[in-house]
Amino acid sequence: MPFSQIIGQRKALGLLRRALNGGRLAHGYLFTGPEGVGKSTTAHALAATLLCERKESGPPCNQCPGCRKFAAGSHPDFLLLQPEGAGIKINQIRELKKALTFPPFERGMRTVIIEDAQSMGREAGNSLLKLLEEPPPDNILLLIASDAEPMLETIVSRCQVIPFAPLTEAETVQVIRRAHPQFSMDEVRTMAKLTGGCPGRAESLHSSEALQLHQDCLRALLAESAGEAAAVEQALALAGRLAELKDELNLFFDLLALSCKELMTALLCGEELEAGHPLAKARERWNLQRLSAMVEAVESARSDLARNCSRALVCEVLLLELFCG
Ligand SMILES: [Zn+2]
Repeated sequence: MPFSQIIGQRKALGLLRRALNGGRLAHGYLFTGPEGVGKSTTAHALAATLLCERKESGPPCNQCPGCRKFAAGSHPDFLLLQPEGAGIKINQIRELKKALTFPPFERGMRTVIIEDAQSMGREAGNSLLKLLEEPPPDNILLLIASDAEPMLETIVSRCQVIPFAPLTEAETVQVIRRAHPQFSMDEVRTMAKLTGGCPGRAESLHSSEALQLHQDCLRALLAESAGEAAAVEQALALAGRLAELKDELNLFFDLLALSCKELMTALLCGEELEAGHPLAKARERWNLQRLSAMVEAVESARSDLARNCSRALVCEVLLLELFCG
């Protein structure tokens, strides 16, 4: 993807473009910012630009041998380091150093991307530091880190740091729509809110069990009542599934609170929801008082969980409150 198609990150892209156009690229960059905001996409766009053999044309031409090899994942001057197991290992850095003792195979710059650079241990970090201190010519290192905090200060100071910020909601919607054309517009909007401006997280969110359970829960809550005993039974069955979510439990709380707040906004603004909207039925059924009680129940479950209360119990109390409250 060329720079021109990257959505958001105007500041980061501006810095890189100016350096590229002025021929003033640093030999080491550190892209920092939350996961899923476009750091890796930008690093790959920069690599594509540097490896294109028709530099005068601006963006990568997609036709020259350099572009074709990069697209096929077989460019000899493009190296990608990803964590092996828990993090980037010292051996990976040693291999990299060995590779960099030779000049690039082709005419342009060799580009190295190191993903999850914050996962490097001290030993690997120190080894990389030497490379950053005395970089062999015609190489550029792009370090990507979700958090620069655990990294050696000396590494950070040897790189030009480019901060990446979360995207606006409108930009997030745009990115998710482009990456996931199969999502419905409602799904895209929900994902955009949940990812908090980090659209790269949409994929794992969308396939999460929490999302499915949230939908099942709403459906059950909005079904015709079959009496109190049936409601209790249903609440306990869903609570059992909910407790199984473990780490995703907070995501379920986010989803439920988000739906309630969306409905409250619709009620307060007198907004009608289109027929077929997943919350259309709820708009008719629940009033502001009920919705605010639901949000309160969710928040109290969240804080009970944070205080290490039994997960099973927290889920039962919440579901009973939702179904029978
Ligand atoms: Zn090209």
